[in-house]
Amino acid sequence: MKKDYLGAWERCLTVIKEHVNNQTFKTWFEPIKAVKLAAEILTIEVPNKFFYEWLEENHLQVLKLALTEVLGKGGRLEYRFKVESHQNGTPQKHSDDELEDAIGVSPDQIQNPFVIPGIKRVKFSPQLNTAYRLDNYIEGDCNTLARSAGKAIANKPGETAFNPLFIYGDVGLGKTHLAQAIGNEVISSHPNKNVLYVSTEKFTNQLIQSIRNGSVNDFVNFYQLVDVLIVDDIQFLSEKQKTQEIFFNIFNHLKHCGKQIILTSDCAPNEMKGVQDRLLSRFKWGLEADLHRPDLETRIAIMEAKMSQEKIEVPRDVSHYICMHVKNNVRELEGILIQLIAQATLNQRAIDMTLAREVIQRFNNNDNREITVDLIKEMVAEHYNIPVDKLGSKTRKQDVALARHLSIYFSKEYTKNSLKSIGKYFGGRDHSTILHSCKTIKDRMDTDVAFKDTVANLEKRMQLNLA
Ligand code: ADP
Ligand code: MG
Repeated sequence: MKKDYLGAWERCLTVIKEHVNNQTFKTWFEPIKAVKLAAEILTIEVPNKFFYEWLEENHLQVLKLALTEVLGKGGRLEYRFKVESHQNGTPQKHSDDELEDAIGVSPDQIQNPFVIPGIKRVKFSPQLNTAYRLDNYIEGDCNTLARSAGKAIANKPGETAFNPLFIYGDVGLGKTHLAQAIGNEVISSHPNKNVLYVSTEKFTNQLIQSIRNGSVNDFVNFYQLVDVLIVDDIQFLSEKQKTQEIFFNIFNHLKHCGKQIILTSDCAPNEMKGVQDRLLSRFKWGLEADLHRPDLETRIAIMEAKMSQEKIEVPRDVSHYICMHVKNNVRELEGILIQLIAQATLNQRAIDMTLAREVIQRFNNNDNREITVDLIKEMVAEHYNIPVDKLGSKTRKQDVALARHLSIYFSKEYTKNSLKSIGKYFGGRDHSTILHSCKTIKDRMDTDVAFKDTVANLEKRMQLNLA
């Protein structure tokens, strides 16, 4: 009888395990200890207040579900924070391996994720891709303002009126390229400045890790050491209250100290949803610079630059023809170029108008044909060599589960289905399960390069399947 609470929590865990991915389970549920069960109230002990807040913000539904199943409708939960008692010689620390398993990085990375060891003055690895430079960022009417602001910032980071620089525009128009190019330029003209590029997703994940690890202060202190902070795709802060709160503090500190902040987003601050007003108003303190679709001349200039970079010659009529037909964004233009080069080198064809027409036609057809959940399931099942119907089954076998997560992720990214209707394709799973699958895949791509490649290859195949 005395140990009722242990049994009850065990059963809750079994239910929870069915609804969250392995990593989430290890990170957020395994560390919990049940301590008491009185009437229908189960008391659980969590490591700290952040942990509790995170559970309430992100995993309330699954906790409720488990409690109702195990304790009935009146089942309730009470939290207790762990009292640290190091004297007894058993500090509640996880071993490094355990922690690495749980969060996908080694613990020495956690406190200061970007510090290069062995260098006295704290100097970060800026996490920039050196291929993104201002000199290969082609100027056009579509980007004049953003590009010149970038140049001014690169000369005097933190000292211009463009702080923050808020770059926004549709996907594929060059936000990441420009933001990183400014960072690279700062490094070459001010080698002592600490530049740091981070995607909003990575920032959020690091915060989660630091909460998990009880080192939020380290996390904040670390970001406050940066001279030029570049945060990409800031729209992903949407609905993430805790991350917004922490980012708000970091932003204020940096701005107060005259440090430079550069943000990118797929929309203007005014159009952002789910982001606190106090943050939005700060985003507007500096310069909002939008990127437009490039006009024909700019597209041709970009194409020629890319071609000469690849040391490939394309006849003028061909490049003009292509640029006339690919208007939406630069990423599409690059996609066409890659297809052109692939055809020319793999199939030994001349880059001429016939080939250009073929490639464009295929590209346009792709645009019209829809990627469906069924098509995705077929492709993923074939890749993992499992029967398609397994993807909708309850089995938790590792390879099937991974294939299922991946199919769900693709369905969310590449089809217009709602979470609910995607769930129906996978044995009637609910929307939180769908979101968990997407997160599992994103986390894994962040930490596993080989897996990221697999995903990229499947994405390519998906495009080709349609051709
Ligand atoms: P976004 O972040 O807005 O989605 P990216 O920065 O990833 O877009 O740009 C997509 C691709 O297009 C990248 O390979 C980038 O180098 C290229 N690109 C975009 N704009 C330009 C430009 N003005 N000059 C040269 N390349 C560009
Ligand atoms: Mg981008």
